[in-house]
Amino acid sequence: MIEVRDLEKRYGDVLAVKGVSLSVGRGEIVGLLGHNGAGKSTVMKVITGFLEPSSGSVSVGGIDVVENRIAVQKQIGYLPENAPVYPEMLVQEYLLMMAELRGIPVGERAAAVGRAVAATGLQAWLVRPIATLSKGYRQRVGLAQAILHEPEVLILDEPTNGLDPVQIAEIRMLIKRLAASSTVVLSTHILSEIEAVCDRVVIMIDGELAADAKLSDLLHSDRVRVSLPADTAGVEDTLAAVEDVHDVHAVGADPSRSGYQLWSLQCSSSEPPTPDIVRAAVAAGWDVAAVALESQSLEEVFRSLIEQRAAAEAAATSQAAEASEAAV
Ligand code: ATP
Repeated sequence: MIEVRDLEKRYGDVLAVKGVSLSVGRGEIVGLLGHNGAGKSTVMKVITGFLEPSSGSVSVGGIDVVENRIAVQKQIGYLPENAPVYPEMLVQEYLLMMAELRGIPVGERAAAVGRAVAATGLQAWLVRPIATLSKGYRQRVGLAQAILHEPEVLILDEPTNGLDPVQIAEIRMLIKRLAASSTVVLSTHILSEIEAVCDRVVIMIDGELAADAKLSDLLHSDRVRVSLPADTAGVEDTLAAVEDVHDVHAVGADPSRSGYQLWSLQCSSSEPPTPDIVRAAVAAGWDVAAVALESQSLEEVFRSLIEQRAAAEAAATSQAAEASEAAV
């Protein structure tokens, strides 16, 4: 549905997006994750045709955004980072105006507004000035304008930014509902947002794509945790002897069971040999409290990507320094 190929976007001297390629299928909910300034908004602005790429291409539903921006925008509902709502207007007035700007024929506007209002739960707020709404409800108005023309694709830039926890939960639920009939790309720097809403995550660091994977694959771990009495002897040797297991080490007291110690086992196969581990522990006569796959959090994945990148940059810098020393 969305194809981004080798996208670069430059603002003067700043290369904000560096060679990003991305393919989003119909019906997917993709989270674009990254620190402030990582380039998320820029990618979204190019997809929605609000900015032209410096190089590379973007198409939506097979239509190139540079060649036919209007046709692309007809397929997209866009909620920019700061929802463009006019505070002095009534909710209904604003949505009718947006329906007109969207090119919805006059006879269909009231029905389009009615549908968007029902989908976003704004029925009771239609004749309120937007300025008097809470931030969460203003965000709903922003979402309502984005779905007026029943777009196939929704691009939502930090849709829960600045909201309180209750409003965040409501907007996330709303996005999941809207995703039932649309392809959704949303950006955020909140890791839990991705876990709560998305099935796929694309991580951007300094304008580059650092990861693109299904959430379940990204969080999948090849480590197993075993809980054993703290005085169990010979754990490393016994468990490291299990096929596919290496690097067995203690990770501290088991917080869920007093007197027990947690061990972490690195496994080399993509399906850790949990039954063999259980058998080895039982054969050794140990009192095993738990054996479980260790899942990594998105935060750990994100941190490790940043560390890998920093290490690669440091290695490249020292290589360059060595090369220039050798040249002297
Ligand atoms: P945030 O989460 O803070 O919105 P982001 O990941 O969306 O960040 P972008 O807004 O896309 O990041 O910005 C990427 C880089 O491009 C940043 O270094 C930013 O300062 C720069 N940038 C963005 N817009 C402009 C502009 N109009 N002119 C110059 N530089 C810009």
